[in-house]
Amino acid sequence: STVIVWFRRDLRLADNPALTEAARRHERVVALYVHAPGEEGEWAPGAASRWWLHHSLEALDASLARQGGRLEILRGRSIDGLRAAIEATGAAAVYFNRLYEPKAIERDKSVRRALEGDGIEVKSFNAALWVEPWDVATKQDEPYRVFTPFWRNARTRIDEIEVLPEPPLRLPQERYLRDGPLEVADLGLLPKRDWARGFAGWTPGEKGAHELLALFADDAVGHYVEGRDLPARHGTSRLSPHLHWGEISPAQVAAGLRSHAARRPKAADIEPYLRQLGWREFAHHLLYHFPRTPKENFNPKFDAFHWAKPDAHALRRWKKGHTGIPIVDAGMRELWATGWMHNRVRMLVASLLTKNLRQHWVLGEKWFWDTLVDADLANNAMGWQWVAGSGADAAPYFRIFNPVAQSEKFDPEGAYIRRWVPELAKAPGRLVHAPWEDETFLESSGYPPPIVDLKASRDSALMAYQSMRGGR
Ligand code: FAD
Repeated sequence: STVIVWFRRDLRLADNPALTEAARRHERVVALYVHAPGEEGEWAPGAASRWWLHHSLEALDASLARQGGRLEILRGRSIDGLRAAIEATGAAAVYFNRLYEPKAIERDKSVRRALEGDGIEVKSFNAALWVEPWDVATKQDEPYRVFTPFWRNARTRIDEIEVLPEPPLRLPQERYLRDGPLEVADLGLLPKRDWARGFAGWTPGEKGAHELLALFADDAVGHYVEGRDLPARHGTSRLSPHLHWGEISPAQVAAGLRSHAARRPKAADIEPYLRQLGWREFAHHLLYHFPRTPKENFNPKFDAFHWAKPDAHALRRWKKGHTGIPIVDAGMRELWATGWMHNRVRMLVASLLTKNLRQHWVLGEKWFWDTLVDADLANNAMGWQWVAGSGADAAPYFRIFNPVAQSEKFDPEGAYIRRWVPELAKAPGRLVHAPWEDETFLESSGYPPPIVDLKASRDSALMAYQSMRGGR
């Protein structure tokens, strides 16, 4: 019999439970991707994500070609694509791996109902998480709202998780789909602007993911605790886009780090890194149980918060990396140029926008959505609400980052700033963190003066917070 494996954000052959089960139970496997961004509503992939998707689909197609097959590509509604593929191939079953975004869940449920109504066997699997959102609950049988107890529970479950090898596949060699065949390029995912030139350092796809993992396991994982906060260094794994697109699973990451460590005389402690992956699990837990958090305050008290009026001019300066606050501008320019930003700097740019400029966190979330190659609804919503103070287990609002002090602490030589803000490449000493302290230098550098007075804006943010708490 023939089975269709419906690929979505599980763009890999190894450790792919839907694919493995399909190969085990059926004679022929048809690999299908249906491009249906409209089904994700306002959270259809942004520009940077589309760039990644284009290359990742090409990589998946190439991996399937090595096994003698190919990726069948369709465009339109998922249910229509699946039905067309079923009709063309005579498939009796559809297998896929689960997603956790509210729109995707709704779509998948209705696809399942429709196909089962047609007499098709439908099976879904977990390829993305260590613990699915319904696998762990508090003693009161409620979803977790605080990370530490969530992780304490989830952590006990992950060591036993099996990693599946790439299955041998019997893939059809002939093309089945009449209305096509579509190539990846036909989907028009690549941006027209040549803006993505700076993305060349990435290698989307399963192979690229394992290369990055090996690099990280070789060196940085051993210094993760100190290195992860220093944006000038490659102290983190940069696996986020690969994890988002399901080119590698957290179980594979953990297994890879363990086997690497086993071959070394002095094994690195991988727990702090696993814990960070735990935040990704927690974000998915939150999104599943509280599906409105990409748009609404997790903590409803914040509904009474007085944001400043939307300020298009300030928002534009923030997006372009022209706020005049060096560490913030370095981050925003890194984001624009590479589709990625260091975690510490993400916190600082988000804090400037939501606290010093008091712009609503959704504005920042949307910009990240469009420009990050790792844009992920669960992680992005949690990250923004965490910084804004409105989230689950968030940083308290009154703890407002001082970007100058943070910059001095985590980029002491200003190496990161100098790399991304060429106007400050030659700034002497401390001026790289606060160039406005020497007006003559600032004028000669061509770098803008700060968009806000950091101290005064901090004070008014605190006042706005106090008045929200006072219910005024
Ligand atoms: P590593 O330090 O190597 O961590 C390994 C993996 O753990 C990451 O790839 C990621 O999957 C996960 N992870 C690490 N930190 C976090 C975290 N704080 N929350 C959730 N998962 C985490 N991450 C995204 O993947 N997509 C987003 O859209 C996103 N938006 C963010 C927005 C804001 C405002 C903030 C503060 C953080 C955001 N993050 C997001 C989390 C974090 O910044 C990135 O996951 C991390 O920088 C990715 O780099 P890395 O792979 O080198 O991380």
